[in-house]
Amino acid sequence: LGMPELPPKTPERRPTRRIHVGDVPVGGGAPVSVQTMTTTLTADVDATLRQIAEVTAAGCDIVRVAVPSQDDADALPAIAKKSPIPVVADIHFQPRYVFAAIDAGCAAVRVNPGNIKRFDDRVADIAKAASAAGVPIRIGVNAGSLDPRLLAKHGAATPQALAESALWECSLFEEHGFRDLKIAVKHNDPMTMVAANRILAKACDYPLHLGVTEAGPAFQGSIKSAVAFGILLAEGIGDTIRVSLSAPPVEQVKAGIHILQSLGLRPRKLEIVSCPGCGRLQVDIHRLAAQVEAAFDGFPHPLRVAVMGCVVNGPGEAREADLGVSCGNGKGQIFRQGRVLRTVPESRIVEALLDEALKLAETTDDA
Ligand code: SF4
Repeated sequence: LGMPELPPKTPERRPTRRIHVGDVPVGGGAPVSVQTMTTTLTADVDATLRQIAEVTAAGCDIVRVAVPSQDDADALPAIAKKSPIPVVADIHFQPRYVFAAIDAGCAAVRVNPGNIKRFDDRVADIAKAASAAGVPIRIGVNAGSLDPRLLAKHGAATPQALAESALWECSLFEEHGFRDLKIAVKHNDPMTMVAANRILAKACDYPLHLGVTEAGPAFQGSIKSAVAFGILLAEGIGDTIRVSLSAPPVEQVKAGIHILQSLGLRPRKLEIVSCPGCGRLQVDIHRLAAQVEAAFDGFPHPLRVAVMGCVVNGPGEAREADLGVSCGNGKGQIFRQGRVLRTVPESRIVEALLDEALKLAETTDDA
């Protein structure tokens, strides 16, 4: 019997046009970027920049800030200038904030031309200003911002309605020759969001921003996002992602990075391979795995660390790990690539792993 063919490690990506959000390329084969949105008052420049620094340290590529008031618009020049990553201004209705964001040096603007047209039709001027400044526009459609005509036509925020609404929004810019667009179509139901993005992927060549909106608290939201993004990214659909969670932006960024790493779309830095535990368990594995994860947070070298609950299968099961521990009788056997190096008391396991990791990093640096 032949072995079943393994799926390719990295999914082939859907060809799209490429836009540039500041110095971050999106689409056209660029690496899938991770985004989040600040939760501070945008007008509070210091607090916003502090949060941007935190998400940048966590690996965020692009950050979005809401601009609901003139005070927020006034803060944009300072934020855009000092942010280490490109800033996207999120605007709903007011064309004057769009012009302010472009003048402020924001890397992109999220605005739906349908809203602009309804209240103060300056879509042509926006297209002209964005084009002159090389600022792309993100069209964002969800159940709440669905075009009322399409809602009436489809009766609900169906995948078809969401996709049609987004394409109609794009057409309002296309009328003015502006195509520097990306589309975000979101829904709180992962499978509705998946279906809508599949329709868009066939219907246009704009880069797609993936998001499950109002996904929920961290645990539920991460799973919903991972399922939806996993399906689409494995089909090559999706150019930039945001995990929306009722949790701090840093957590959203970490979840997004984990999703990309699980799909082989971003190199893994630290991977903890810990066993779930079973009747052979001889240590509090959940606590130990959490301690190891915390101790290695930010470790600058790619590393796979195994934390195994017993000595029976420990080193063997985790042979592919760079480093690991298998526990038993109040002790931990520290091993490297399946070979036992030494045994330490349980209280010194984390320290011993860190020590071995540093030695390993030195030998790799020397190589
Ligand atoms: Fe059970 Fe040991 Fe495997 Fe952990 S390593 S799951 S404790 S057999």
